[in-house]
Amino acid sequence: MSSVPVPTPTPVKVAKPQAAIPAARKRKVFWFFAAIVSVHLLVPLAFLPYTFVWWGIAALLVGNFIFGSLGINLGYHRMLTHSAAKFPKFLERLWVLFGVCSMEGSPLWWVCTHRMHHQHSDEEGDPHSPKEHFYWGHMEWIYTADERRQRLDTYGKYVPDLMGDKFLRWLHRGEKWLLVWLAHVVALTALGFGAGFAFFDTTDAAVQFGVQWFLWAVIVRTVYVWHITWLVNSAAHRWGYRSYKTNDGSRNNVFVAVLTNGEGWHNNHHATPRACSQGHRWWEIDLTFTFVRALQLVSLAWDVAAVKVPKHIAEGAKESGEGPPSTAKP
Ligand SMILES: [Zn+2]
Ligand SMILES: [Zn+2]
Repeated sequence: MSSVPVPTPTPVKVAKPQAAIPAARKRKVFWFFAAIVSVHLLVPLAFLPYTFVWWGIAALLVGNFIFGSLGINLGYHRMLTHSAAKFPKFLERLWVLFGVCSMEGSPLWWVCTHRMHHQHSDEEGDPHSPKEHFYWGHMEWIYTADERRQRLDTYGKYVPDLMGDKFLRWLHRGEKWLLVWLAHVVALTALGFGAGFAFFDTTDAAVQFGVQWFLWAVIVRTVYVWHITWLVNSAAHRWGYRSYKTNDGSRNNVFVAVLTNGEGWHNNHHATPRACSQGHRWWEIDLTFTFVRALQLVSLAWDVAAVKVPKHIAEGAKESGEGPPSTAKP
């Protein structure tokens, strides 16, 4: 990413550390809660006889790969948060824009939150540990105010390497990322209706196609990507097997890994956060990483961080008897 000097954050009186979850639970961010609920309420409309189509499932899965896997997994998570790989500038921007179109917050907000999670995993200070309650770790934390993320010094502490990036700052200030998300909704919807009028003879058929496209490629896809991302924070910190003895409750969850194209191998990820590949065994499929390998072959990705598990974590797993059902590796 950009190497523009990081601005010195304005000194702010740092509050005494306190239990993050109980304090944060007091105040909900109404507008974000309303936005999440509103988008959810549109989902059942996609299952009416007029709107349900089997190609909608395909649109959902392709949309998940573009906006979820390339935008969130690769862009927000592996590239911005962990510097797991480098790409040409135009691809970096593209991954970030795909992430923005998943409506999961500004890149700076997302990266800041996730780095806080890695620093305090399942301890006091973790923004979304599901240890106390599954729903908190899954989605309640999102629409709950966390005063830490409203202070500039928090961003100065957790995302100093990204604060110099003008594009990321622009997206963050005044929640302009939401305008970009809205613009993509308008553009995708226009594309659907345009295709409808181009390929169908009657206005009724064209409008029906446009509505179907809007619901499946935008609404259902957005909600789907939300929940599978949130499952990494909730389910993959509660259920699954552990290959490494990390200081948290992270798990390798096969179900979440399949849905997210690789992010569910979460215990592997906590053991070696910078590694671009989150599947450590041959059967731990990570399609997001496979995509990076393909880009690497055509010189569109480089500095791909290798899997390097600290010795004490790898050996700690053997001593405690923790490990996957099969450790066979070709
Ligand atoms: Zn985690
Ligand atoms: Zn991470």
